[in-house]
Amino acid sequence: MIIRHCVLKPILIVIMGATGTGKSRLSIDLATRFYPTVEVINADKIQVYKGLDITTNKLPLHHRCNVPHHLLAELDTSAEELTRYEYRQLASSVVSDIVARRKLPVVVGGSNSFIQALVGDQIDPVDREGIRRLRYRCCFLWIDVEMQVLREHLCRRVDQMVKAGMINELAEFYGSIGFTGRAGIGKAIGIAEFKPCFKPGGTFFGLEEEEGCCERAVEEVKVNTCRLAVKQIRKIQRLREAGWDLKRVDATAAFRAAEEGKTADEAWEMDVVGPSVKLVQRFLGL
Ligand code: ATP
Repeated sequence: MIIRHCVLKPILIVIMGATGTGKSRLSIDLATRFYPTVEVINADKIQVYKGLDITTNKLPLHHRCNVPHHLLAELDTSAEELTRYEYRQLASSVVSDIVARRKLPVVVGGSNSFIQALVGDQIDPVDREGIRRLRYRCCFLWIDVEMQVLREHLCRRVDQMVKAGMINELAEFYGSIGFTGRAGIGKAIGIAEFKPCFKPGGTFFGLEEEEGCCERAVEEVKVNTCRLAVKQIRKIQRLREAGWDLKRVDATAAFRAAEEGKTADEAWEMDVVGPSVKLVQRFLGL
């Protein structure tokens, strides 16, 4: 399939949603449906850095199904914070390259400020009219999950991250980078929360020395991740109110099914992938 981008405004698919809603999974699902046309551009301001793969929830390589990913784990772990202006420059040059090869760029994130910086006509619009004006023809997909269901999922996800080695990963990070303050990857949820559990240099205190420190940190990560989700949803709603044509796809049933131990894949396929594929097809005029 060859994508015909308009000369004036290229086409962009944008997958939005709070943390943990399955944006990366959907991007791969779309990529396999529109094979070999799709290339993914990351719009999560923390996942642009190398390192902390578990802590920042990067989609593992073996789940990427050979779909090219851009601006994902590209900047050095110790790099300064990437600004919205720099992201706009980097990401728009990636879009131009993908468009020149007649492929379909799919932006996935996370960071609504980055998405706005990339697709907006102006980087700092002063009013709603300015926010509405876009420099690409965008098909916005918004994966939404009922807040209570998402909260439970996020808390379980943090437990899984801990089981998968998040604490060791953080120990290594502190050991090599040190406590870098709040710039760049240093802003990732997990870093500030676990800091009291480590000695400078990366040696884990252990539970005997600091009773309950680790449990407290895990709880804080859960709370802050849920806060982030609420904040992200508010931002998405504000963009919708400002006039962005966001197509809401409800993934709640798929998440509930997973929670109840039923096969969630069918619900995901039926409620999320199916409608998203149709929306993209309609948008592309297929
Ligand atoms: P803001 O302007 O508030 O930074 P934003 O839309 O630019 O919002 P978000 O993606 O909402 O950026 O990220 C806000 C904060 O949430 C980050 O600075 C970081 O602390 C945390 N965060 C975001 N994504 C991740 C991630 N993948 N892993 C860990 N923490 C994250």
